[in-house]
Amino acid sequence: SIRIAQMTGWVSFTLMAIYSNVGEVENGMKTLTRPDRIEDRQDAEGLRVTSGQIVIEDLGFRYGRDIGGISDLSLAIQPGEKLGIVGASGAGKSTLVSLLLRLYEAEKGRILIDGADVSRVSQDSLRSQIGMVTQETAMFNRSALDNILYGRPDASRDDVIAAAKAAEADAFIADLEDAQGRTGYDAFLGERGVKLSGGQRQRIALARAILKDAPILVLDEATSALDSEVEASIQSALTRVMDGKTVLAIAHRLSTLTEMDRIVVMDQGRIIEQGSHEQLLERNGLYAQFWNRQSGGFIRTQDAPSAAAQ
Ligand code: ADP
Ligand code: MG
Repeated sequence: SIRIAQMTGWVSFTLMAIYSNVGEVENGMKTLTRPDRIEDRQDAEGLRVTSGQIVIEDLGFRYGRDIGGISDLSLAIQPGEKLGIVGASGAGKSTLVSLLLRLYEAEKGRILIDGADVSRVSQDSLRSQIGMVTQETAMFNRSALDNILYGRPDASRDDVIAAAKAAEADAFIADLEDAQGRTGYDAFLGERGVKLSGGQRQRIALARAILKDAPILVLDEATSALDSEVEASIQSALTRVMDGKTVLAIAHRLSTLTEMDRIVVMDQGRIIEQGSHEQLLERNGLYAQFWNRQSGGFIRTQDAPSAAAQ
């Protein structure tokens, strides 16, 4: 249908918007490199994810001379594995995810999903297989319903509402009213619509990901703008949406990652340690330092800069 075609057309645009926003938030005054408009190869095939294995081989990327990126990074993520990624701000966590989504072209090495090189499959098919919740999510100048539907354009209104409920978004959506008097799920969001708080945008993004139900899920500071009460109440939705999927979860708040199958610690574009939460504490390296600083006697609120961010 026209709606589906329109919505898939938005995919690249939004992802770029999302990640340029993240860059802006994290990079302050630095000049930002915009994602390149990447062309599909002429012989690009559709990606079909069967098991959800992700293999990263010797990956290298830089935004520019002397600007950070990813260096010689190799990592095999098993089908269904729940992987946590931690590291100081600027360590390259979001860049790694951008390369997985092929928002930038790797300069060296490759990323394989179920054996298919992400640079060889069509971008639409790649992105259709990955659900994503980030720190900052761009909203379209469309209704709240359309903004969630974007996760799976053929879903019904009831499916959308169920996803919104699971993401704790239903109640605030029901109260929305835009300047044209459209209300609830029909209220327009985006630049010219209702202004949402960061936490509300994250819950819409989570509803999208729940609805999309893609085999690979990326959570990049997905709950950073939620207060701890809301975060706790969507934790079970998050756990449910992670079930059976390959998950890459980036978080500053380390306590959200202790149950992950494995945690990798990044520093300056590289993986410097990895293991379970317990193994990493035992190792007494960078992860243990972050952990000890974060749990060192102060109560973390969602606005407090985390140790990892400093
Ligand atoms: P993290 O997500 O771990 O905080 P990023 O992947 O965002 O780190 O950033 C890694 C490095 O790349 C940092 O030095 C950051 O300043 C730089 N960087 C990130 N995004 C951009 C961009 N769009 N343009 C230029 N430099 C960038
Ligand atoms: Mg980041």
